Amino acid sequence: MIQLIRGFKDILPGEVELWQFIEKQTSSLFEDFGFRDIRIPIMERTELFSRSIGEETDIVEKEMYTFADRKGDLITLRPEATASIVRSYIQHRMYAVDQVQKLYTIGPMFRRERPQKGRYRQFYQIDAEVFGVSSPLIDAQIMFMLTTLFTRLSVSDCTAKINSLGCPNCRPAFTAGLSGLLSEKADFLCEDCSRRSTRNPLRVLDCKVPACREAMADAPSILDYLCTECRSHFDSVMRHLTIMGVSFELDRRLVRGLDYYTRTAFEIQTSLLGAQSAIAGGGRYDGLVKALGGPDIPAIGFAIGMDRLAEIAAQQHSDLCRKPKLFIAALGKISQTLAFEWVSRLAATGIHAEMDMSGRSLKSQMKQADRLGAQHVLISGDTEIENGQVLLRDMITKEQSPLPVQDIVEALRNRFA
Ligand code: AMP
Repeated sequence: MIQLIRGFKDILPGEVELWQFIEKQTSSLFEDFGFRDIRIPIMERTELFSRSIGEETDIVEKEMYTFADRKGDLITLRPEATASIVRSYIQHRMYAVDQVQKLYTIGPMFRRERPQKGRYRQFYQIDAEVFGVSSPLIDAQIMFMLTTLFTRLSVSDCTAKINSLGCPNCRPAFTAGLSGLLSEKADFLCEDCSRRSTRNPLRVLDCKVPACREAMADAPSILDYLCTECRSHFDSVMRHLTIMGVSFELDRRLVRGLDYYTRTAFEIQTSLLGAQSAIAGGGRYDGLVKALGGPDIPAIGFAIGMDRLAEIAAQQHSDLCRKPKLFIAALGKISQTLAFEWVSRLAATGIHAEMDMSGRSLKSQMKQADRLGAQHVLISGDTEIENGQVLLRDMITKEQSPLPVQDIVEALRNRFA
């Protein structure tokens, strides 16, 4: 038997209803905040990711699914959505119509990480990006939108952590200081960090290896190096989060795994998922649009790990399975043919009805109706059809009432629409 690939998974009926529910809640909320859906391809040129995410990141160094296509061009299954959305924003000159664009997308991402609970090689993200707004108000607003989504999904036990990563004016002084510390601690760092400590020292703060964490315990915080503009931006974000009632913790050591972040960086963590505690992460990336060949336009965004979100939300939403409004227990040949016609006509007008096509006994059909959670059952045998009347049974009150066969679809439609 052929099994699925390690780190990949099926989302089965029974689970998928929750995913659909999350998707619906997300698009409805995000669209109320002025975001528009964008669909980007699953594959892009490898260069897009290596340039935007950064050569010195785990994703680019070891996690991307990269292939040479038949012509030898290097293509990659997208490990995240931001790079593609930025590419699309630039390629379609969306900024020429209006520099401000609020876009969101939901879909699969691919990273060849070590699979474990909450960490997959194909996983799903809800991604939102805002282009063209440098005001700190938008930073606070998207965090408010994010936490509102979690509230709507009854996901509590989330903590927002926030930090500033500075900008190209103030960050170099911090990284220079950090580099000094890194060379002192060189013997304690993991292989990846030793290599990165010269080319991308910030990344070392993000390393999960305990020895590196310990070595970095007394590292300085970038917050002590922020320039006046970055400081006032950050203060304003925090002030507006407070005004909007978004609770957050300042995390002076938070850096994000991707290279392109500037200023605000945030992460939403939960204690409900064990080791994989991050359910969303995001921040500002004011330099990326320009770095990828577009105009100098600021941007900010976030990505929610949907697999993890679904896992937590599942505890609150256990019964989302769709139930038919009606089950037709058809007994006998004529009745089966009619039931087939009624079920089809009802479905075509938006009413979900089910029937049994194997012609089983009334008892087992009633059991099936029960299992499907149908609230009403239409009991229809060939004799009832001949007499021109079938029985409609309410499965909760157990009451039964006759219903004329003539114009029955119309009558059912009026009743159940
Ligand atoms: P990132 O794009 O790395 O900032 O990730 C944003 C969110 O996506 C994280 O907070 C996780 O919830 C989720 N995520 C990242 N990688 C994985 C993975 N391999 N499996 C499941 N979820 C993931």
